[in-house]
Amino acid sequence: MVWFSKSKSSNEIVELIEMPDGLWAKCPSCNETIYKKELELNLFTCFKCNHHFKISVNEYIGLIIDENTFKEFNINLKAVDAINFIDSKPYIERIKEAKNKSEFENSIICGTGDIFSHKVVFGIINSSFLEGSLGSLETEKIYRSVRFSIENRIPFVLLYSSSENRIQESAISLMQIAKLTSIFNELKNEGIICVSILTEPTVGETAFALAVQGDIIIAEPGSTLGLSSKSNLEQKSKKRISDKFPKSDYYFNSGQIDLIVDRKKLKSTISNIIDWYNK
Ligand SMILES: [Zn+2]
Repeated sequence: MVWFSKSKSSNEIVELIEMPDGLWAKCPSCNETIYKKELELNLFTCFKCNHHFKISVNEYIGLIIDENTFKEFNINLKAVDAINFIDSKPYIERIKEAKNKSEFENSIICGTGDIFSHKVVFGIINSSFLEGSLGSLETEKIYRSVRFSIENRIPFVLLYSSSENRIQESAISLMQIAKLTSIFNELKNEGIICVSILTEPTVGETAFALAVQGDIIIAEPGSTLGLSSKSNLEQKSKKRISDKFPKSDYYFNSGQIDLIVDRKKLKSTISNIIDWYNK
């Protein structure tokens, strides 16, 4: 991008200042060009239309969890290929590539941390690893995290940003829904609050089935939600799906989610919910 500035001389020499392109972002919703530093200060939301840009796992942890309080657990679990699945390449090879590309070990990070001094178990699905798909390793991490919540009687908060179930694990991946539904029921029976946060996109059988287990379901504005992504539905049906794919406001208006919360108010809202629940 090029900016022009006027020199102080009477000859009105125009000076060209080259601005590196990487300093600017274009809002995909309203086409506004935004200085990335300003976007960052606004928590990656558009000044003009409030479009919520996708942010990383670590940025969400920094946004929601008090500084220096997050302690990840269950970090040494390893994925296995129980059915020796091979599509265009072996599943284990695909996992290795995802690790190298994303610099994460799998598609979920779980641990304990504080939200305005409330101790919580916090999990976050990592869409940079195999599109956030959930295999048996990831669901085992969720299971153990919910178990930790129950044993220590602290709230469970899970942030979703994910795609389909892990197709390379076939039925084993789908069976995890039953396993997790059981532990979520136990959490509910123990009277411990479970908060689901849905971000762009939360689609796919496993993710959506788990997200609705929350006592309070929050979504960021404009998030695509549903049992399947638009591209996946188009592939399966061989038909073009309308661009008006349901967003979080549709699910809020039909009563399937409880709150649509601006990213800037996400942390305070969760804290208020925990305060309210503890009264
Ligand atoms: Zn915008």
